[in-house]
Amino acid sequence: MSIDFTLNSYQKRLQRIARDFATEILAPLVAEADADPDPQRAFLAMKGAYVEAYKLGFATGFLPRQYGGGGISNVDLQIVAEEIAAVDPGFATVLLVNGLALMPIAWFGTEEQRIKWIGEATSDPRGEYLAGWTVSEAPGSPGGTANFDHPGPMPAGISVVARRDPGRGEYVLDGMKYWPCNAGGWDLKGANVNVCVVRIDPTKGGKEGLAAVIVPRGAAGMNFKTPISKIGHRLCQNNVVTFHNCRIPEENVFAVGNGDLVISKAFTWSGPVAAIAAVGVARSAYEYILDWSKTYTGGGTRPIIHHQAVGYLLAEVAMKIEACRAMAWKAAHYLDLHDSEGHAVAAMAKVFCGETLFGAVFKAMQAMGVNALDRSHPVERFLREALVFPLYDAGNIGMQMRKIWGVMSAPGFDPRAIADSRPIRFDKSMEGAGLEAPLSDPQAG
Ligand SMILES: Cc1cc2nc3c(=O)[nH]c(=O)nc-3n(C[C@H](O)[C@H](O)[C@H](O)COP(=O)(O)OP(=O)(O)OC[C@H]3O[C@@H](n4cnc5c(N)ncnc54)[C@H](O)[C@@H]3O)c2cc1C
Repeated sequence: MSIDFTLNSYQKRLQRIARDFATEILAPLVAEADADPDPQRAFLAMKGAYVEAYKLGFATGFLPRQYGGGGISNVDLQIVAEEIAAVDPGFATVLLVNGLALMPIAWFGTEEQRIKWIGEATSDPRGEYLAGWTVSEAPGSPGGTANFDHPGPMPAGISVVARRDPGRGEYVLDGMKYWPCNAGGWDLKGANVNVCVVRIDPTKGGKEGLAAVIVPRGAAGMNFKTPISKIGHRLCQNNVVTFHNCRIPEENVFAVGNGDLVISKAFTWSGPVAAIAAVGVARSAYEYILDWSKTYTGGGTRPIIHHQAVGYLLAEVAMKIEACRAMAWKAAHYLDLHDSEGHAVAAMAKVFCGETLFGAVFKAMQAMGVNALDRSHPVERFLREALVFPLYDAGNIGMQMRKIWGVMSAPGFDPRAIADSRPIRFDKSMEGAGLEAPLSDPQAG
């Protein structure tokens, strides 16, 4: 049977362990931390739960087994991520970002880098290890994130510059990053490592001029300001990172001239995880409100579920959750089949599920009525959490939709390949969609 949505016994066990962790260890911490106006304190309140998650393998389980990771499949990761995100998607993001940072080393790094950096990540006896994925930039810095693949030289695209100093065998980083998760670490002195995408040649566009740099904790010249205070996902730390004459050995650099491909692939790998995280949040909203609608009468004689309007609203929510879970699993399965080369389908899942389920959470709130706004219920938080999905993890409009568009626009794109789970090649000619260089420009690739 090649199409079967039934979990096998290993997956059921994984689901139970993740659910027990989420409900017993994570859930008791969430409300108070979410209400804390200080984002760093809120993040720090999660440290004990993180250590437990690390011990259970949730912080590194997706890293390749040969370097100490758990080597779990993308599909199995879906099962864990849904359970954790159903309780707190911000905490789930902390775990996910370890993968965003370290999977690029597995795909694009040297063997020495894999052994050293992934090996360190997977062997922390204290279970506190964090990796930062340091790509996004401040508005008007100059620079930007959505246009990382812009064909023009600086100031278009990524603006943190890493200048090569061959005399000392180093790269020298200058500039500012804004938004990176985990980057500041538990003490705002740095995650164990930051994988940072930088401009190594300001005269070149984003498809030739970017690289990735592994910046270890304690690197002189890297500093962290107060983390960003957000509407949702308050339990993950989003950082303001500055680099000033920050010298990193050349051996820490990888994907020279291919930093764009690193960004494209990392945000492909994370797409189905973001999609299933949206399922988790919508599921929690739906279950809470379904329960409410079976007991609350609204002053009538029967619980409100007996009003057809309420029943239809909740039916719509339930349909959307099921459809999105199937799509997220499909995308994850596709990534398993093709070494995470699923740039279009992963982006489709991320965009579709995030957008659909933000709407679904609102519909569920409509079914509940005005009481959904009362902060003594957890429902307003579900809406704040759901709001993040279309905007984060490579925003839907500026990045993920452009990636789908770029793949589709390529000559020879086979529109049935995704349905048939056949591979779709991704290359630089598919980046930069809608930016100054036309997609058909032979120089663009
Ligand atoms: C909880 C959370 C966790 C995050 N974790 C990380 C992390 O670990 N590491 C990291 O580096 N970043 C992280 N981010 C940032 C995140 O990845 C953003 O998606 C990323 O910064 C891009 O945002 P954006 O698309 O809004 O880009 P921006 O560059 O800010 O663009 C703004 C808007 O302009 C429009 N736009 C810009 N260019 C185009 C274009 N070419 N075509 C069409 N429209 C365009 C779009 O409407 C876009 O949404 C995180 C953010 C959040 C909220």
